[in-house]
Amino acid sequence: APNERDRLRIAIQKSGRLSEPALALLAAAGLSWQESRDKQFYYGESLPIDLLLVRDDDIPGLIADGVCDLGMVGRNVLIEQQYERESRGQPRPFRELRGLGFGRCRLMFGIPEAWDWQPEVQLPGKRIATSYPALLGRWLQQRGIDATVVLMSGSVELAPRLGQADLVCDLVSSGGTLSANQLKPVEVVLDSEAVLAGPTESFADVRAGIAELLLRRLDGVMKIRDSKLLMLQAPRAVLPHLMQLLPDAEPPTVTPLDGQPGGDVAVQALCHGAMTWQRLEDLKRAGARGLMVLPVERMLA
Ligand code: ATP
Ligand code: MG
Repeated sequence: APNERDRLRIAIQKSGRLSEPALALLAAAGLSWQESRDKQFYYGESLPIDLLLVRDDDIPGLIADGVCDLGMVGRNVLIEQQYERESRGQPRPFRELRGLGFGRCRLMFGIPEAWDWQPEVQLPGKRIATSYPALLGRWLQQRGIDATVVLMSGSVELAPRLGQADLVCDLVSSGGTLSANQLKPVEVVLDSEAVLAGPTESFADVRAGIAELLLRRLDGVMKIRDSKLLMLQAPRAVLPHLMQLLPDAEPPTVTPLDGQPGGDVAVQALCHGAMTWQRLEDLKRAGARGLMVLPVERMLA
């Protein structure tokens, strides 16, 4: 079969916003590597998983061509290229397997500060600068709006000031770049984050098992990112109230305390939200004592 391999190859961004968090996530999942001299290829040491470091725009194509098995890329790039392929009548060769929780941003319309936002009225005949013509095109088409899409590869937010466009459709995280150019963000076209992308069909060789192991580990890493183990003691009677104060907790382990016939128990609960001082004080007021918050190092569901 073509592209048969006994190691898994993941494409990640070589240098940019997603590089460091992607490497950190994979390292947290237990991967380690030997870097090639040109830092283009990382040979996996702890697991048969290698990394290819590339421009983020190349990642969906590398998966489509079978050069890489998985990739970490912005959802914005993945969907743009999917729509683009669909518009050329090509089948979809890749899909999103997981949201990875970093690289969050939104593809948004940015309009001159003096405008009101009434897309159906305002947009017809206007020029919209963007690096995401397929995503924008589909949004316009769904609303039956006829506008001109001005393709820019970078510095989209400058286009209105330079007279190349009337408004923009651009990636926004804080909104600072837009407002520095007298534009205001008004509507979200796509909510984005880095995603793990893979082929639409599952692997038919040993890569299936390697990918499954990696996904399980990534799920574990993402699940415990904010998780803490909470330990406390309390009279059994107040337990229901305590659990109401812990809506983000997994079902707790409850153990009777030795020599405490009064029904005091020790409680252990895995909590998925931030364990602030405020929350601990609320628990104490509700009858808990001996509160302890422990970091979770690893988790395997
Ligand atoms: P490359 O050289 O790999 O092509 P790039 O310039 O296209 O790099 P970056 O600017 O590093 O890419 O952005 C990579 C991804 O980071 C974006 O596709 C997007 O998913 C995400 N991202 C998060 N916040 C922002 C933001 N404020 N502006 C642009 N992209 C952002
Ligand atoms: Mg790019």
